[in-house]
This record gives sequence, C-alpha cells and structure tokens, in this order.
Amino acid sequence: TQYVYRFGGGVSDGGAGDKNLLGGKGANLAEMASIGLPVPPGFTISTEMCTRYYEEGETFPDSVKAEVANGIAHIEGITGKRFGDAADPLLVSVRSGARVSMPGMMDTVLNLGLNDQTVQGLAATSGDDRFAWDSYRRFIQMYADVVLELDHGRFEEALEIAKEDRGFALDTELSAKDLQGLVAEYKALVEELWGKPFPQDVHDQLWGAVGAVFGSWQSERAKVYRRLNDIPGGWGTAVNVQAMVFGNMGETSATGVAFTRDPSTGERAYYGEFLINAQGEDVVAGIRTPQYLTLAARERAGAKPASMEEAMPEVYSQLAGVFDTLETHYRDMQDIEFTVERAKLWMLQTRSGKRTAKAALKIAVDMANEGLISTEEAILRVDPQALDQLLHPTLDPDAPRDVLTKGLPASPGAASGKAVFDSDTAEKRAAAGEAVILIRIETSPEDIHGMHAAKGILTARGGMTSHAAVVARGMGRPCVSGAGTLAINAREKMLRVGSREVREGDIVTIDGTTGEVMFGEVPTVQPELSGDFGTLMEWADAKRRLKVRTNAETPLDCRTARDFGAEGIGLCRTEHMFFEGARITAVRQMILAEDEAGRRAALEKLLPEQRSDFAEIFRVMAGLPVTIRLLDPPLHEFLPHEEAEFAEVAQAASVDVEVLKRRAAELHEFNPMLGHRGCRLGVTYPEIYEMQARAIFEAAVSLDEAPVPEIMIPLVATKRELELMKAVVDKAAEAVFAETGKRVDYLVGTMIELPRAALKAGEIAEVGAFFSFGTNDLTQTTLGVSRDDAARFLTSYVEKGIYAKDPFVSLDVEGVGELIALAAERGRKTRGDIKLGICGEHGGDPASIAFCEATGLDYVSASPYRVPIARLAAAQAAL
Ligand code: ADP
Ligand code: MG
Ligand code: MG
Repeated sequence: TQYVYRFGGGVSDGGAGDKNLLGGKGANLAEMASIGLPVPPGFTISTEMCTRYYEEGETFPDSVKAEVANGIAHIEGITGKRFGDAADPLLVSVRSGARVSMPGMMDTVLNLGLNDQTVQGLAATSGDDRFAWDSYRRFIQMYADVVLELDHGRFEEALEIAKEDRGFALDTELSAKDLQGLVAEYKALVEELWGKPFPQDVHDQLWGAVGAVFGSWQSERAKVYRRLNDIPGGWGTAVNVQAMVFGNMGETSATGVAFTRDPSTGERAYYGEFLINAQGEDVVAGIRTPQYLTLAARERAGAKPASMEEAMPEVYSQLAGVFDTLETHYRDMQDIEFTVERAKLWMLQTRSGKRTAKAALKIAVDMANEGLISTEEAILRVDPQALDQLLHPTLDPDAPRDVLTKGLPASPGAASGKAVFDSDTAEKRAAAGEAVILIRIETSPEDIHGMHAAKGILTARGGMTSHAAVVARGMGRPCVSGAGTLAINAREKMLRVGSREVREGDIVTIDGTTGEVMFGEVPTVQPELSGDFGTLMEWADAKRRLKVRTNAETPLDCRTARDFGAEGIGLCRTEHMFFEGARITAVRQMILAEDEAGRRAALEKLLPEQRSDFAEIFRVMAGLPVTIRLLDPPLHEFLPHEEAEFAEVAQAASVDVEVLKRRAAELHEFNPMLGHRGCRLGVTYPEIYEMQARAIFEAAVSLDEAPVPEIMIPLVATKRELELMKAVVDKAAEAVFAETGKRVDYLVGTMIELPRAALKAGEIAEVGAFFSFGTNDLTQTTLGVSRDDAARFLTSYVEKGIYAKDPFVSLDVEGVGELIALAAERGRKTRGDIKLGICGEHGGDPASIAFCEATGLDYVSASPYRVPIARLAAAQAAL
C-alpha cells in the first residue's frame, strides 16, 4: 500500500475527492496545487497509516520510512534546500488533518528542521538574524508544547519576562540577540522538564512530530469531540508535512485567515484578518490585534490600522483573485489560511467554511441565484437542524437592558443564563437543568464540553476567527468574543467590568448579533420568517412529497405552527386541556367518582370547556385536517396530592374527603405507563370518550368552515378495542348531527404504538381510517425501555454502539422502523387509501423523516418550532 502522497511543484498525487484517505487539509492542498494555486510543496501521510500505526503497536513500518524520505526529497527538489543542511536548510511544518476538521487534534508544529547549526544557515540565507532566531524560538516552544507535552506556561513565562526586562509590549520588539538568549533559556527548560536535551537531529524531530499527530487521534480531547459529533474512531487522521513559508520575515510578510463570504451573515464580501510580520496561529491566538482584510470592513468597524487592501494592495488583489477561483472551483464558501512571504502569496489551507444558520441560508439562496449551484443543491446545503437557530427568539429591541460591555458579535443569537467561569462547572450545572453562560478569558479545545453545555459563550480575548468564535458558530451557540473590558478572574469565579461585578450564578444575557453583554435577563421577540428563509422554504416545498403537520394543543401553538407552514395538526393531545385553570377540579371529580352517574356529572362541567377549546383550534386551523387524540395518560397523573386539593374536589363533588382519599389509593398503579390508560380508559369509562367526541362534533358543526376532525384512539392493541371506541364516537356524532341538523365529515383512526397493533395492522385497518405512528410509545414498548428512566443507561448504550443514536431522539430504523414498515404495508393491503403519519418526537428529526419518506408515509407531525426543519428535511429526503 502507498502511504505517502505528494503535492506541489506541478505534482498532485491526490485531490479534493480523497478526503477519506488524505484528510480534508491534505486533499485540499493537493487540489489547490493541481489547479495552479501557489501552495508550498509537501506530502501527506494517509489516514490508512494512522489505522495501521494503532494496529501495529504504535510503530511505523520500514516501507513508510522510505516513502517519507522520498517525500522529503520531493520538497527538496522543488525548493532547492536540503532538510538538515547547515548552510541552506529546508524547514517544514507538520500538520494534522482528519476527514473533518477536528479540534482536539495535535496543534501544528512550524519551523521544524531548525537546530543549533541550521539556525545559522537560515540567518545567512535570509539575511535576517532576527527572523532566524525568532523562528527557532517559536519552533522549540511549539515542539515542547505539542510534541513533548511539556508545561507551556513555563515557556510563555520566559517570553513574558524577556519582554518585561526590556520594557517591551510586543514580541516583535525583541532583537535577534534577545531571541538568541531566549532560545538558550528554552533549551535549558526542555532539558529541565523533559530530562533530555532538545532533539538536534532533524529526522528525530520529524518522526517525533509525526508520531505525536497520530498519537493525538486517541487523546481525550479528540475522543470527546468525536463523541459529541458522531465521528467514528476508526477514521484516523492524516499528517501533512509541508515546506515552510515565512510570514515573519519583516514588514512585507504577513499571515492571515479569510472567508470568501461573511460567515456570520452570509453577505457576499471578503471577510478576514491578517497580521504583518507574524507566523501561523498568531492571528487566531490574539497575540496582537489583527488587522482587517478589506478597506470596507476596517471603515465599518472604525478601526485605525491599515487593512490589507491598503497596506499590501498588490498581494491583496492577488488574494481576491484566489478567493474567486476557489469559490468557482469548489462552488461553496471557503475558509482560507494564507501567508505572505516577502510580498509573495502562499495558500496554506482551504475548506468549506463553517457558518451560522443565517449565513448558510443566505449563501445557499445567493449561490443558487448567482447560478453557481442548483436550487436542489441549495436545499441540500442547509442543515435542517441548524434552522433551529433562526426560528428562535431574539432580544426584544424595546426591552430595557442593563449593558455591561460590548465585545465582538462572534456568533449570532441571544442567550441568558447563569454566569460560570469554567467548563466543568458549565457541564455540571447544565446537566442539572440550569441555563449557563460560559465566561472565559479565551477558549481552547479543552473547553469543548463546556461550550456544548452552555447556552452561550463570552470571552474577553480573541477576534472573529478565534477558537471561541469558530466553535460557537459551528455549534450554533451565541457567542460574544473579545470583550476586552472584562477583567475575568476564573479562580475567584467572578469578573469585573468598571466598578461592577458578576459572580458565578448571576444571570447575564449575551447578544451574539450585536456583541452586547447585559446584566440580568432580557426578554425576547419572535424572528422574521421572510426573505431567504421564505425562498428556501418555497424551493423545499416544491420538492417534497411528505406533508408536514404539527403537534399542538393550544391556539397559540397552532398559530405558530401555521405561520411556520404546518399543513394540519397531526396530534392534538386533549389531556393538556384538562389541566387548565379550574377544570382540573372537575377532572379530579370525574376520576374519583364512584360510579357512572358521578362521572357524568363531572363530565357535564368539562363539555363546554372542551367544546370551546376545539372550536378555537378549528378556527385557527381552518381548512386543514386536525387529528385529535382522545384521553391517553394514566388517571393517576391527574390525582390531587395536597390536602387542599382533596378538599376542593370533595366540595365540588359533595362527597367526603376520606372517601376520595380511599378512591385515590385504589387507583394506585405499579406500572402506570402499561396500566389503565389510553383506550383502556374509554373501554372502562366510555362516557369520557363520549363527552370528548360530543365536544369535537358540537364545535365542528358550530363553524362555517369546518375542518375534517380525525379522531384518534390511543394505545389500541386489538381490532375489537377500536371497534368499541369507534362505536362510541359514531354514536356521539349521530346524536350531535340529529340535534343540530348539521353534519360534518370525520374519520376515526388509531395510534400505532404497541407492537401488537403493528403486527395486527391489517385487521385494525378494517376499522380505522388512519394510522398515526406514536413512535415515543412504540419505541418504549418495542425496546422495553422506559423513556422516563432511560437517560441513566442510554448514554452508555450509545457510547458502546449498541444503538447508533438515542432511539428516543432518532428513530431506531432497524427495529422500530421494521414494525412501522410492516404495519404500513399490512394497513394498506386492507385499506388502499389509509392515511399514514408519524407523531412522535421523531417527526421533527431529519434522519427519521428520511425513513418516513422511504416508507411512503403521508405526513410527519412535529412540534411547532420544528415544522420548518421537517419541511426542509422532507425535501432533502425526496431529492
Ligand atoms: P489547524 O488545523 O489548526 O488550522 P494548520 O495545520 O492549518 O492547523 O496550521 C495552522 C497555521 O500554521 C496555518 O494557518 C498557517 O498559518 C501555519 N502554517 C502551517 N503550515 C505552514 C507552512 N508550511 N508555512 C507557513 N505557515 C504554515
Ligand atoms: Mg488551519
Ligand atoms: Mg402514546
């Protein structure tokens, strides 16, 4: 097997299609080289080598050593420099690169190949002593940190002291001599902390770094990230070894990062930052304040230091040309890293840029309108889950706000929560159900779990491309970065801003769209659903087959869902209505009644209430189908708990409190979810379903534009149950029609949420006109897992790969899915036009929606905020 793939100097052994083999970075370096962009030559050691490295006890086969030697020769041939040559040394970077960009992997090592001899050669050939010693001290510092894993604080301290001693603020002020002294200190530090001298043999340096990249694949940080992002451990990482180009060769050199469009808003404008006389991650690390790329961005920000467009106009226009080439070539927004060495531009990385949901939407719609991609591609470009960010409320512009400070609007959206100052606390408090805002001086890959747990992220340092900003945008968390006036004291768990203090647990609000940071909670308003969102939704609606309904039971939810494009109600749970206001007393009276007469007396009180609920919902949903589920939960959920509640019910029913308590005790169940609930209530107390059906029909006939009520009987296991319940509904219908002289169309159907019902679907369809797969219960009953108790062990089940995902979030397609497919098939065989839908949580989950499309269901039903997600996912599934 070939493990080493070259690029640069007219050679490209791989290309953009080889991400699995070469990692994203390696594949794109090869691709950029092959389309003639200026890429420093190098080679990629494949991900297959990473897998083999772990299979063979973390060793390298001899064949790979030879291949790497050839790779080095390839770079030497193009650059004319030799690796380890004291007179004119080749320096390389060693960079990790998995299939997808992954924080937690080893940081890049730059300037590898420097030692006490070659540093002299570098000084001589560059004619710049300062540059040579700066490169050497950077190399030792990085190598000690990422390869030898020594305490980097000690090295930073030494650098700080060197600056302080001389009264300097910036490391660019240090002279060649200062840096040479620092190198000596660094070498002593390595020997002290590592017990061995800093490796002088350049090949030892190289293999040490390559081994460290592969080693980092199994680091804890990388594992956490993979778990959170569903990345398989078997993928492995590639290693890229590449000739160095130098952004730290003085005032005509620079390094920068850029996006071809604005990753926050999606606006079609080059977007980025750069730093003159700097190297590598200096821009991102916030060593100095980076400068803007474009004149327009600088002016908009009111910043002083010249933009690249002004400071280096020629290189800038070359860079702009590269941006356009890349966008046309990749047909997507690109995230780019570049370096300028003595006025010559070099491309070091490109990849599809991470973007906010808002930007994803705008870029997809714009690119389709520009003719760069098709509308189908535009539909596929937007992650349905990410729409969530756009559908949620933003800060009410008219609400009073107590602004503490302002930082950079790094990731849009608003969030309120309790201030926490470290990631472990963020995780702990979030697990306990608290909303938290993670506040850090700056974040690093070690903060991933805290950022994930937090509702929002606030940092004091770092720009728009800082770690916090990039990761937050990817995760869809609001983020304000670089709020420089915050004095954060993580140890004391507090921050100061001016004379004010925020302590752990205090509520703060951040607005990632404006950069504002506020004390206390600020109320929010609903988002605007027109513009690009509307356009994409229109395109999606034209492509999807599945209808999208909503699960809603209040007029407000129904309205929201209609605004979001719901085409009906797939599940209206009537029990929610039973808890409202004074009704609960009547409901309790009904449950605790000793006999039918007692129950009927209580139901009398509920009838007008239910009727007006339904009338209101029918009005909001005019012209659309509404599926109403009759009473489902175990009765004990409604029982009184407190003395006062018992007294209230006793008075309403004119019975003795003690009688009620005895009756309540009788109703106790050991396993209520498998107990007296669903249609079992209707079978034993038909008058309950009779009242509900009557309320539905009385409401329907009272309206001019009556919807078609679809009356759904829950938890049916047998045909006979449904037969009995349908008779109750039909009888109520006929009674109402006779009394009012008006008729409406209606359907009676059932939920399929028990395995027996799925198996006997053929028979059940003889009675039921529709099936709605209640996948919450169907998952629970098929897996034999109580969903209220599953959290305790399901996480380990997912970690161990027993289930690929939490089966209550994403449908267990193999198991529960097979039951659904079977029931659909058997139901259709009996009744060709049977309506089939899904109404569990899964109705809003894109992967589950893809299954529903494949199984040929008629509709999915999701909670109101997930309706647009379902519309888009349904279109993607149909494409
Ligand atoms: P990451 O995956 O964290 O982005 P990279 O491998 O892209 O890490 O390296 C980070 C930075 O190091 C790059 O953006 C670039 O500025 C610098 N760098 C990497 N390789 C080279 C090189 N061959 N010459 C100059 N700078 C380099
Ligand atoms: Mg990079
Ligand atoms: Mg159910």
